[in-house]
Amino acid sequence: MKILIVEDEAKISEYLRQGLSEAGFMVDLARNGLDGHHKAMTESFDLIILDVMLPDIDGWRILQSLRDAGTTVPVLFLTARDSVDDRVKGLELGADDYLVKPFAFAELLARVRTLLRRGQSAPLETTLTVADLELDLMRRRVKRSGRKITLTAKEFALLELLIRHRDEVLPRSLIASQVWDMNFDSDSNVIDVAIRRLRAKIDDDYEPKLIQTVRGMGYMLETPGSG
Ligand code: CA
Repeated sequence: MKILIVEDEAKISEYLRQGLSEAGFMVDLARNGLDGHHKAMTESFDLIILDVMLPDIDGWRILQSLRDAGTTVPVLFLTARDSVDDRVKGLELGADDYLVKPFAFAELLARVRTLLRRGQSAPLETTLTVADLELDLMRRRVKRSGRKITLTAKEFALLELLIRHRDEVLPRSLIASQVWDMNFDSDSNVIDVAIRRLRAKIDDDYEPKLIQTVRGMGYMLETPGSG
């Protein structure tokens, strides 16, 4: 599940990014309205958390552009102003829910989960499958050959990324930015260690092996029989 946070206040955006990552979501961050607008319009997300008060393009305009373009992605907006007008405006523009700052993270997480569960016009993709490997995105469960496998939140996010980009070589730098939200340092073996742990859980005891090492390039999850 991929969430976009559009928020210019560094403290809040960092707090949200960290909390949502720990809850197992993939998080992308936009720290101003222009960047947020661009990401929201060009990339695909399962949910957008949108601050209303942004220095350049405000949250309302981003929301309006999204809905004008016919995008149905759930939007949760954050407003600092405890004003009824704001809430009405947001909901009229097509937001799905709102939170008034300051809010407790647990409250935000509950709203996020509810929005992701709620039936949408386009059914949400809740299970990813490759061969006999199944990822249940809602329950955060993984099975291979019908056997339950326990993954950490990071391992789950890594596997989700690999499956969403199956049959594509993913450079370590991309994996680092998507799963760890960090710039890749070539001296670091964080990615290789994580891949090794993931392989031990989902590949070592099974055939065919799904995670491939592409020498000098990165990793790829290969659909059996595709290449
Ligand atoms: Ca703001």
